[in-house]
Amino acid sequence: MTEANTEPQDVPTPTNFLSEIIAEDVRTKKFGDAKVQTRFPPEPNGYLHIGHAKAICIDFGLADQYGGKTNLRFDDTNPEKEEQEYVDSIQADVRWLGFEWDRVCYASDYFGQLYQWALELIKAGNAYVDDLTADEIRQHRGTLTEPGQDSPYRNRTVEENLDLFVRMKNGEFPDGTRVLRAKIDMASPNLNMRDPVMYRILHAEHHRTGDEWCIYPMYDYAHGQSDSIERVTHSMCTLEFTDHQPLYRWYIEQLGIFPSQQIEFDRLNITYTMLSKRKLLQFVQEKVVRGWDDPRMPTLSGFRRRGFTPEAIRAFCAAIGASRTNGTTDIEMLEHFQRDDLNRRSSRTMAVLHPLKLVLDNYPEGAEEMMEVANNPEDPTAGTRQVPFSRELYIEQDDFREVPPPKYYRLSPGKEVRLRNGYFVTAKDVVKDAAGNVVQVHCTYDPASRGGNSPDGRKVKSTIHWVSTAHAISAEIRVYDKLFTKPDPGDFAEGGSVLDNLNPNSLEILTDAKLEPSLASATCEDRFQFERVGYFTVDPDSAPGNLVFNRTLPLKDSWAKIEKKAGA
Ligand code: ATP
Ligand code: MG
Repeated sequence: MTEANTEPQDVPTPTNFLSEIIAEDVRTKKFGDAKVQTRFPPEPNGYLHIGHAKAICIDFGLADQYGGKTNLRFDDTNPEKEEQEYVDSIQADVRWLGFEWDRVCYASDYFGQLYQWALELIKAGNAYVDDLTADEIRQHRGTLTEPGQDSPYRNRTVEENLDLFVRMKNGEFPDGTRVLRAKIDMASPNLNMRDPVMYRILHAEHHRTGDEWCIYPMYDYAHGQSDSIERVTHSMCTLEFTDHQPLYRWYIEQLGIFPSQQIEFDRLNITYTMLSKRKLLQFVQEKVVRGWDDPRMPTLSGFRRRGFTPEAIRAFCAAIGASRTNGTTDIEMLEHFQRDDLNRRSSRTMAVLHPLKLVLDNYPEGAEEMMEVANNPEDPTAGTRQVPFSRELYIEQDDFREVPPPKYYRLSPGKEVRLRNGYFVTAKDVVKDAAGNVVQVHCTYDPASRGGNSPDGRKVKSTIHWVSTAHAISAEIRVYDKLFTKPDPGDFAEGGSVLDNLNPNSLEILTDAKLEPSLASATCEDRFQFERVGYFTVDPDSAPGNLVFNRTLPLKDSWAKIEKKAGA
């Protein structure tokens, strides 16, 4: 800390190994006077998921922290899998998460420059056209313990290579007949350095460049140079690229271009969650879920529809930080951050998901009254609202037992409970249907207990919620559970698939929920706590008079318990 005075004022305290590296580079002026520049480089082949949120928070967050900028770069070198729909959704999701890029860039904008650089590498004797098939190239590559073998085409002359490469570009050869390879070292202990492929022939329509190109660069040949073109100083990516870093540097050094620096951090894995766009695409295509934004999907659009907030997701990402080894994070931790956020800001309302009729025999027939209720006890500025009360109410089926089990303190014959924001009531009698199910509970209420306290100071052990039947609105409620039954969805028997671990009960649709009337004016993405039940949000499938709610989360928070167990 004593050194702080000699350091530039605007360097904040490092918080993890990434910010330590950047702080040091800023201090030593590793990139001269260049500002910190980062990029977030999604491939537009699917929707963003919570793992991408982590990368976004790192890329944008660190640039922000050091007064730099971030580009949104589409890594669109794979024309067969990429689509404009994904480009659009990615932009919407990054903004929803709360970040704004400096520029939108596309690797495809650099196809011309990358091609020129490939010609340069050929001329310098550092790249050659290979006629081996993909299979043969694989066979020649060797293994971790054995060196690879040179391709018989490795020593073509520069002239021959130039001629063939230009003709590849001009479309003279069918797909897969030739590739351009970097000429590095077939005996390198790093397999990525054994003459990696730079270009492949692919007569495919690209979502931006159309049929302008029939050769496409490989990820490794495109990524570092794209970084360099954008003068990215710190190129953060996940750990599986660690072994690619020597190649990333090799291209930049051979070409003598801006020395962007790759730094790897741990990939986010979450229990009960599959974070692979390929798998998520499969769920969408096979209709395992209703779409990319199905509230059970770990996509940002899925979380959004489920009622998650960008603030909670950012807080979660800040808490998990970044490290140099991969691990797995409990889904309960993410849920904990979401509950915390919703607890602070969501309005409390009353809703009955599984209605049972309750009649107050001594309440005047036809009468009604308004109860004044606080919107959010956590937030006094949230104000109050009027909730209608009358002789007939709905309560949850679960809140009544004709024969109460031990320690059941809710309503049962002869027992008194508090109706939240209402009165004390005592159950007297029940009405049953032909099958013997209780369909109505008859109670008496104590008029002196209005607001929820009795003047004689007698206590009740339980408070239950209710909705006046005459004033209730009906709604559809979608109750979600985990999409998978196993903490590691990838844990399946040989020959099986992740689909074997699907939770058959991940969605339950309740069509007869009864809600307090104030909810009639709720609109899409409004978020509520239904008291004693959970957090809910309005689904875009809602239509006027036909509300649909998604359960974001139940109230119970098991994270504290997990943390305690881990500490013990
Ligand atoms: P997926 O395997 O889901 O397809 P990807 O890495 O192929 O992911 P990209 O679109 O290439 O997806 O990723 C864009 C950026 O997001 C990359 O920098 C990548 O490292 C990062 N990223 C992707 N998944 C995760 C994750 N689970 N945790 C952290 N960062 C991730
Ligand atoms: Mg990828």
